[in-house]
Amino acid sequence: MMDIPVVPAPTVAIAGEAARFPVRRIFCVGRNYADHAREMGHDPDREPPFFFTKPGDAAVAGGAMPFPVRTADLHHEVELVVALGAGGTNVAVEDAPGLIFGHAVGLDLTRRDLQAEAKKAARPWDMAKGFDRSAPMGPLTRGLPPEDAEIALTVDGALRQQGRLPDRIWRVAEVIAALSTHVTLAPGAMIFTGTPAGVGPVRPGETVRGTIEGVEPVEVRFEG
Ligand code: MN
Repeated sequence: MMDIPVVPAPTVAIAGEAARFPVRRIFCVGRNYADHAREMGHDPDREPPFFFTKPGDAAVAGGAMPFPVRTADLHHEVELVVALGAGGTNVAVEDAPGLIFGHAVGLDLTRRDLQAEAKKAARPWDMAKGFDRSAPMGPLTRGLPPEDAEIALTVDGALRQQGRLPDRIWRVAEVIAALSTHVTLAPGAMIFTGTPAGVGPVRPGETVRGTIEGVEPVEVRFEG
């Protein structure tokens, strides 16, 4: 008879500490920057926040990694990520900051070709968004994220995405409050808060670097 397997929780680094932060679930907000909503062909003014998920073990540190399978159009999306150290249901906007353990820079890697096929066929996005190593992130910095900072991404040193956090349609506290009406939030929730305009393809052999002023960066080198 086969032994019952031991399945450890995925973890991410905490800047300056040996301890690691356990990841329970990964949530992502769609189209939270007006300029990105427009580049994807949507009217940003009429849409409340919507969410999709990635498996917890999609969270990985940066560094060298294999290029994702089953795609000819892998896209980068640089995002502010918040990690929750406490949870709740129907959390009030004013209480939401109190749930935040820390923040990081993350990459919402997307197999855009699979997402386009899914949208066309009205099928789920899971395989477009939730594949292996689809959520690289830098080390967590403890405390609340900056309210106003530049968020940017380069591919092999060339600037591809640039925006400012206040350009978001829904602020972090509003995102947490809205998400907590859908699911019970718990410690270990990682929330990707949306990407500014400029998303585009990454190819094997290229290096993607995501930055937010004052936060540890994330860098991924895709094997060629
Ligand atoms: Mn995204």
